[in-house]
Amino acid sequence: MPTPVSPLILVGAGHAHLVMMRLWLLQGWRPPAGTVLLSSGAQAWYSGMMPGLIAGRFDLKDCAIELLPLCQQLGIILETALVTALDSRHQHLTLDNGKQLQYHLLSINSGSQPLLPAQLDGSVSVLPAKPFPAFIRHWQHWRDRAPTRMMVLGGGAAAFELALALKKQFPASELSLACSGELLQSHGPRLRSLALHWLGQAGIRVFQHSRVDRINNKQVFAGDQILQSIDALIVATGASALPWYAQSGLVCDSHGFVDVDRFLRSSHPQVFVAGDAASSRGSVRSGVFSVRHGPVLADNLRAAIMGQDLQAYRPQKNALALLATGDGGAVMSYGKLALGSRLTAPLLGRWKDYLDLTFMKHHRTGG
Ligand SMILES: Cc1cc2nc3c(=O)[nH]c(=O)nc-3n(C[C@H](O)[C@H](O)[C@H](O)COP(=O)(O)OP(=O)(O)OC[C@H]3O[C@@H](n4cnc5c(N)ncnc54)[C@H](O)[C@@H]3O)c2cc1C
Repeated sequence: MPTPVSPLILVGAGHAHLVMMRLWLLQGWRPPAGTVLLSSGAQAWYSGMMPGLIAGRFDLKDCAIELLPLCQQLGIILETALVTALDSRHQHLTLDNGKQLQYHLLSINSGSQPLLPAQLDGSVSVLPAKPFPAFIRHWQHWRDRAPTRMMVLGGGAAAFELALALKKQFPASELSLACSGELLQSHGPRLRSLALHWLGQAGIRVFQHSRVDRINNKQVFAGDQILQSIDALIVATGASALPWYAQSGLVCDSHGFVDVDRFLRSSHPQVFVAGDAASSRGSVRSGVFSVRHGPVLADNLRAAIMGQDLQAYRPQKNALALLATGDGGAVMSYGKLALGSRLTAPLLGRWKDYLDLTFMKHHRTGG
């Protein structure tokens, strides 16, 4: 059977693709017939609300966007399958259901995955924070029987938020956080000290400058040092690339993320890449930056189809970060400014909820 050829294939329902699809709806533009969205499931999970879900502040349905209604309005075919290989030379994708697809134009927004410690002996339950469907399934089992001793691995916003959320949900469990550098090292010192204060107040032990490389007989090792004994490890380490990016023939950086130019175009002009999967100067791997890619991608895919000029993406210098403290509050950083005392955190939390819920509302209705 000949391989079906699609005018446009969208890989992953990441933040940038969601924003792009909503903009196309608002602008009344429809992609060409035969456009396909490949997604691991029928829903897109919104990472900004995951910690709130774990803390028990939101239900599952609050954090998911159903993809079928969005696709139907745009005339896009939704195919629930994962890409396992991309051959950029022959413009060819292989899916985990055995299917092969060919494309004229491709847009990749399939994100990243946390990096697991090099040596795991199976003595503890290991739960990567992504992909979200697997994380949520596992976490639901824990609600009936929580592990007694848990460690969150990672030093970024996700690790900080998940540690506080887990402590809120499982107050009787002993919880710690370990990171290879300083906690929240891409943020200013004021936010870092606020964050350490929140973790300390919640009774969460923090191991900074501790690169966890091994678990042996329930003991967590950073080099030769034993940090502590645990029953479960939650992995929210920084983004690592999906292996098929570097195997695709697209030019990638030394970490396996796809190099893009200022138009979000890869080394192959018929392949655009956005969100965590993309590597460019000045971009940071976060949901905020992926959302910012959305409008540029919406313009550029349309322009590529219609033979028009492309728009350049200009990364913002500072991005607003609102990190959930598990109890409905949040700490905030913007450039060097940081806020999040006991007094201001509840207000910041309300602001974060407002922004997150508005994002969900817009992308559910397309409005
Ligand atoms: C717990 C947690 C909380 C976070 N909170 C925040 C926050 O508050 N603010 C913030 O800015 N960032 C946050 N982040 C980081 C943020 O999740 C990522 O940077 C962001 O999701 C990247 O977006 P993306 O658009 O690249 O891809 P994603 O939003 O990760 O989406 C990728 C999509 O592609 C799908 N996919 C993956 N592989 C394939 C494949 N092979 N084939 C087809 N589809 C595939 C996935 O299932 C997913 O639907 C958080 C991360 C975590 C883990």
